[in-house]
Amino acid sequence: GGAVRFDSVRFGYDPEREILHGVSFAVPAGKTLAIVGPSGAGKSTIARILFRFYDIQGGTVSIDGQDIAAVTQASLRAAIGIVPQDMVLFNDTVGYNIGYGREGARQEEIEAAAKAASIHDFILSLPQGYDTRVGERGLKLSGGEKQRVAIARTLLKDPPVLVLDEATSALDSRTETEIQTVLRDISRKRTTLVVAHRLSTVVDADEIIVLDAGRIVERGRHADLVRAD
Ligand code: ADP
Ligand code: ADP
Repeated sequence: GGAVRFDSVRFGYDPEREILHGVSFAVPAGKTLAIVGPSGAGKSTIARILFRFYDIQGGTVSIDGQDIAAVTQASLRAAIGIVPQDMVLFNDTVGYNIGYGREGARQEEIEAAAKAASIHDFILSLPQGYDTRVGERGLKLSGGEKQRVAIARTLLKDPPVLVLDEATSALDSRTETEIQTVLRDISRKRTTLVVAHRLSTVVDADEIIVLDAGRIVERGRHADLVRAD
C-alpha cells in the first residue's frame, strides 16, 4: 500500500493568500516522487498537507484511495514517516530516541523492529550502539550519526509512506553521500516523497515535479527535464 494522490489541491495558510494553486500528482505504491523547486515554492507545504497539519481549501488528498480528511490523525501518523532536515533528539540514549515512537518499547523489541526495517546495521555502526548518549553530557554524535538516529526512529514505525524533506541539506558533503546511500536503499521498499532544491540530487526518482510559486511548471523523469533545460 501507500499510493499517494493530490488532486487539484488549493491551499493558503491565510485563505486570502493562496500558496498552492491546484497541485495534482500521483505516486503509485512503492514509487519515488521528487518535488524540486526554489525556496518558497511550496514544497514543505505539500508535506505538511499530507500530514494534515492544515486543512486544504480545495481538491483532495488521498492515500490508497482514501481521502485523508476522513482518516484519524493516529492512522495518518502510522502511515507516514518523515525524515526532516534536522530532527531534534532527546538528551538520552540512541535506544531511547529510536524507541520513542513506540510506547514502552524494550530493547529486544526495538532491535527486532530495526532488523525488520533493515536499519539494524547502521545503528550498530554507531560507537556504542543503542547505549550511545545523544546529548551534550554524553558522547556527542556527528550530524550524520544524528541523522541515522532520526531515520531509524522514523523507520521503526515501518510506515508505507516516507517523506524526506531536505533530509541531507544540513550535512557536510561526505556525510551527505553516505546518508544518501542509506535513503536510496530504504526508499526502494516504500512510497517516497523526496523534497529537494536541486534536480541533480534526485536523478533516480520515478517522477520529478518542478514546483514554482505554488504551481507545477514541469514534470517528468530526470533525463527529460535535463533535456528541457
Ligand atoms: P519551500 O518548502 O518550497 O521552501 P514552503 O512550503 O516552506 O516552501 O513555503 C511556501 C510559501 O508559504 C512561502 O511563501 C512561505 O513564506 C509560506 N509559508 C510557509 N509556512 C508558512 C506558515 N506557517 N504561515 C504562513 N506562511 C507560510
Ligand atoms: P538538495 O541538495 O537538492 O537541496 P536536499 O539536501 O534538500 O537536496 O535533500 C534531498 C535528499 O533526497 C538528498 O539527500 C537525496 O539523497 C535524497 N534523495 C534523492 N533522490 C532520492 C531517491 N530516489 N530516494 C531516496 N532519497 C533520495
